[in-house]
Amino acid sequence: MKVLRLGDPSLRRQAEPVQEVNDEIRALIAEMFIDLGREHGVGLAAPQVGRSLRLFIVKVDDNIERVFINPQIIGTSQEMLLHEEGCLSIPKIWEKILRPSKVTVQAFNERGRPFTLEADGILARVIQHEYDHLNGILFIDRAKPEVREKVEAAFAEKARKAAERAARSQEAEKTGRKKG
Ligand code: ZN
Repeated sequence: MKVLRLGDPSLRRQAEPVQEVNDEIRALIAEMFIDLGREHGVGLAAPQVGRSLRLFIVKVDDNIERVFINPQIIGTSQEMLLHEEGCLSIPKIWEKILRPSKVTVQAFNERGRPFTLEADGILARVIQHEYDHLNGILFIDRAKPEVREKVEAAFAEKARKAAERAARSQEAEKTGRKKG
């Protein structure tokens, strides 16, 4: 599946709860892990692949494949940590973002079983980042407003240029056809 980029309205939607953890959902999860591996990411949320569902996957340095379906963050630490973040939907941008250092999350796994997880370190960071995706929030929203504006403008410009290139090549194709 294609990972959507900043500017795609799907990334800004409030995702819908998963109604039933069935084979279709498990197939989606399997595909998402393939995408995550290909993109060398540590986390991926369903809205990033155009599925507006409350579900994300995480695979950090311990290589454990973690699945969070209909997650809820039920606790966060008082202690906050500033740490660099990136996002597969916003390539090549890294910003230091302030977040609680620990979280407690409740969710369902790929077999539909509920679990509670207390996380710290990189895992806590990734869980919060992916959880935000389910609410249409991107990490740049948590950066300084001027940083967010700059990144959004740069991606809008990139999208404009790509559309221009696509229009030009379409035009060239038409011209070519006439000649041929
Ligand atoms: Zn992300």
